[in-house]
Amino acid sequence: MSVYAEDGWRGGVRRMTARPANAHQARLLHLLRDQGPNSRAQLGDQVDLSRSKLAVEVDRLLETGLVVADGLAASRGGRRSHNIRLAPTLRFLGVDIGATSVDVAVTNAELEVLGHLTQPMDVREGPVAVFEQVLALAAKLKDSGLAEGFDGAGIGVPGPVRFPEGVPVAPPIMPGWDGFPVREALSQELGCPVMVDNDVNLMALGEQHAGVARTSQDFLCVKIGTGIGCGIVVGGAVYRGTTGSAGDIGHIQVEPDGRRCACGNAGCLEAYFGGAALARDAEDAAREGRSTALADRLAAAGTLAASDVSVAASAGDATALELIKAGGTRTGQVIAGLVSFFNPGLVVIGGGVTGLGHTLLAAIRTQVYHQSLPLATGNLPIVLGELGPLAGVTGAARLISDHLFSPA
Ligand SMILES: [Zn+2]
Repeated sequence: MSVYAEDGWRGGVRRMTARPANAHQARLLHLLRDQGPNSRAQLGDQVDLSRSKLAVEVDRLLETGLVVADGLAASRGGRRSHNIRLAPTLRFLGVDIGATSVDVAVTNAELEVLGHLTQPMDVREGPVAVFEQVLALAAKLKDSGLAEGFDGAGIGVPGPVRFPEGVPVAPPIMPGWDGFPVREALSQELGCPVMVDNDVNLMALGEQHAGVARTSQDFLCVKIGTGIGCGIVVGGAVYRGTTGSAGDIGHIQVEPDGRRCACGNAGCLEAYFGGAALARDAEDAAREGRSTALADRLAAAGTLAASDVSVAASAGDATALELIKAGGTRTGQVIAGLVSFFNPGLVVIGGGVTGLGHTLLAAIRTQVYHQSLPLATGNLPIVLGELGPLAGVTGAARLISDHLFSPA
């Protein structure tokens, strides 16, 4: 049986195109991805299949080349069986497009990051310019010898995405991207299947696969970057809502008739906090003479970013600390509402603004524990993400592998 097809990208590298034929094979592939090489006996303990039926499904997966034999398993009495593992040549591309930077990584079948590149980028340049950079970074990873080609790619973008078509819809901070067929365009360029999702959902998937949410089935992952969004994981799966915009918490109103927001409404959380709002407030504070540390940095650089507030705060600047605390409190108000509504087992805080660290986390925790009912917060950890910039790319690889490891 032939399971190989020509890769359309940069000529001639043969990649796998096999997919599992049924739900049993899909389950086996997921177990091998999440647990690594395993013996038939151990796999059998985890799937509801008789020994003979398990043998049939494993043999079929071996025939496709998605799975290969990997040495003898430890004896459990009787004849020793071979370990099996996912094909060591499988490679996934994870792309995390942020508002101001892009991360690109290549992973193996178990979603371990083998190589990772990041560079500053302005998402407002539009899809064509951004994809040029993404493809250049992907080519660099390929040229470094980490991958001969990619079996699939996951892409995260900082705005709402109509899933599963993979099309951004009216993203407030991404002019020029509305309706752009990201999935189709990149699939053509890369010559492999592509899945597209909101960057926040991918961060949640990444932290679930290899980060702080490994053992959680029901959790919220709040990403505070340039904007603010929330990945919602229910029963182990990302909940995207009817049209894909679930978790768009940056545009929940926190102040009636408040500041104007990029979305056109007034008083949104994002108008008060997030990287963009924080930078603007820091510049105001510097100009109004409320912080010499920020004023010095503004004079030196001509503009301020959230990271400047972080540096000033670590040096003990009272105004910088106050800005972070106020933003954390506002964010905490919104999270408290989510906690009352959703009763999660864990809240993960991630994104670029987590450089603000424990001042931010403390303000969020104080507000949530103060505002939510004891039954909801009695055993509710609110923690920073573990994976940093690798959360998004790991989640992107997980997204595409979930797709490819499911029956076509
Ligand atoms: Zn808004």
